[in-house]
Amino acid sequence: MQILWCRRNIAACVELSINPLNWSDEMIVKKLVLPRQISKLQALSKRLRASHDKFTHVQNDLGRFLAGYNGEKALQFHLTPLSSKDTHLLHNVRLFHGKQFSQMDLLIVTRKFVLILEVKYMSGMLHFDRSFGQLVQHKNGVERAFTDPMFQLERQIHLLTDWMEKRYLPRIPVHGLVVMSHPHAILKGDSSKQDSSIIRPASIVERVAQLEEHYREPFISIAEMKKISHEFMRWDESHDESVLQTYKLDKEDILCGVICNSCGHMPLDRIHGSWRCGNCTLRMKTAHHSALSDYFLLFGPTITNREMRWFFHIQSTFLANRLLQSTPHLTKSGHYKSTVYTISEQINL
Ligand SMILES: [Zn+2]
Repeated sequence: MQILWCRRNIAACVELSINPLNWSDEMIVKKLVLPRQISKLQALSKRLRASHDKFTHVQNDLGRFLAGYNGEKALQFHLTPLSSKDTHLLHNVRLFHGKQFSQMDLLIVTRKFVLILEVKYMSGMLHFDRSFGQLVQHKNGVERAFTDPMFQLERQIHLLTDWMEKRYLPRIPVHGLVVMSHPHAILKGDSSKQDSSIIRPASIVERVAQLEEHYREPFISIAEMKKISHEFMRWDESHDESVLQTYKLDKEDILCGVICNSCGHMPLDRIHGSWRCGNCTLRMKTAHHSALSDYFLLFGPTITNREMRWFFHIQSTFLANRLLQSTPHLTKSGHYKSTVYTISEQINL
């Protein structure tokens, strides 16, 4: 196993199983991993006062991102039969189109077509109203209208086709499906032709097989198919913005200190070489690892001794150094007051 093509999208690394002597054994998969934006929002929601005016906004966004991730997780079982060297599965591919990004939940690449899956994890009764181009959700006595996901899918098909043409990639048809992955959703809609593009996860394999049959002969070779998948992964850029910038927050808005693993109390006191919870009296040796992880998610991949003392509510430069030096996966650079510790981006402490 080798980890390759992590140039931009480190959180969602591409895993390739490569036999360098026989390229026909190569299987390409970009696995589903927890998006880094979710980890950042989780760190932020822990460290924002419930009374802060951005708290509800952050919680709602976190819920939305988690629903998207859960929707994709719910597909995994149904994708297993598709895993083969003739079918490449690429989760969460985000391509730049000159002015805008297009985020695709799943790309299925074969020698006959590229299939975009737009995954929605919504519960309740969902009515697809084609005439008004909207999706109406009826849930707990409340009606909410959303943009018809078919519009989003059609835009993605158009953008991806254009993106491939501009890179002179081998010509191949691009199709799309909307997958409603919540097990308790009730789907209702017009019996028009377009609704056949909205499916349940259990139908994915069958729909891929139908497309395979529809085209009979492949349009491209295995080498060309690999080239297309490699280009998608090469240009994939994960959504990795600073949450402090996104929500226009300052350092002062963030609650500092080590959090108790057991009762959630913060900040913990440093007493006799361990962290002690003033609420439940639990003592922990390495509770600062998770606080450091929050720090890196919120403020970026580096920390100095001064920042460590501020965030951990400690006075001693010696203790701050000792904690940093004993934390795994940190690289030390610089000397004396300019010493900086950097975390490897793949690591969650
Ligand atoms: Zn506690």
